[in-house]
Amino acid sequence: MVYKCKGCGGNVVYSPKVGRMVCESCGTEDNEEILKTEDAFKCPSCGSSIEVGEYDSSCKCEACGAPIILDPRIEYPYGPDLALPFMVDKYDAIEALRAYAKDKLFIPGNFINAHMEDKLEGIYVPFWLYDFDTDVHYNAIGVKIRTWTSGDTEYTETSKYAVARELEIDYSGYPADASIKMPDDMMDLVEPYDYGRMGKFDSRLLSGFSAERYNFDPNQLEPRVKARMAKDTDAWINSTISGYNHMEGVQKHVNDQRKATNFALLPVWDYKYHYKGKEYHFYLNGQSGKIVGKSPVSPSRVVGLTATLFATLAIFIQGLEQLLEML
Ligand SMILES: [Zn+2]
Ligand SMILES: [Zn+2]
Repeated sequence: MVYKCKGCGGNVVYSPKVGRMVCESCGTEDNEEILKTEDAFKCPSCGSSIEVGEYDSSCKCEACGAPIILDPRIEYPYGPDLALPFMVDKYDAIEALRAYAKDKLFIPGNFINAHMEDKLEGIYVPFWLYDFDTDVHYNAIGVKIRTWTSGDTEYTETSKYAVARELEIDYSGYPADASIKMPDDMMDLVEPYDYGRMGKFDSRLLSGFSAERYNFDPNQLEPRVKARMAKDTDAWINSTISGYNHMEGVQKHVNDQRKATNFALLPVWDYKYHYKGKEYHFYLNGQSGKIVGKSPVSPSRVVGLTATLFATLAIFIQGLEQLLEML
């Protein structure tokens, strides 16, 4: 289907700037109607066949430029539950890339060029958002070592404490991208997103942007999510323990229980960049403008900071420390 202007018949797209549907021809806002064809893979505007990849759900007609949404790929079982609208538009994205490249010595001079507009693609990337209940039982011996000197003698005092922790962590909206073409490490880095702006999926948001249906189901991605979540859980445990020189005999039992999964579309700008015949991608968070990418000059270096906390989280901690012995 395609959104058309009721006034002039022009193509209507979602504008991140105004947060509304805008006619590309006459500029009228929120005055659209849906045009459909029997065959969802034919352009309702010009009748051309739409050539798309296996997972694409929104694209541009190669022949006439109309913003096409492929109905069968946004309906059951591929219908998204949630979507976070683009808030950064193409021109903001170019500005952000310019500002980013300005003081980066490892970015070649032609990173910024006159054709950036054509190399930027706004993509709604499919993500599964997981809700988990995590219970942690942690027991260890915390060792404190104190040394001091008196006269010619050095004294060492070693104290051992029984350290017990019970943590209940509610992870809510823990994300994993469900797209083959988007690199997992980059998508992890492009977070965090503010889910406060997330709403029920609305097909109008896709008009003028690319989108994909999910490429993996939630069970396929669960091991990846759990591995990433385990690191956060460890960080939470460690944040509750301090003042010891080291820990001994650590016993840790973690039980992750999946409660719910939601299919969400999150906005990403993909900037394709060519350098010495190779293609590189930089990604911008379509909500915050945060940029991550691999530098063409040192290709192994991933720039961008690791997202720390992206999911909303409730945590309940119980702890106990008891002196066992002093030597
Ligand atoms: Zn119009
Ligand atoms: Zn067309």
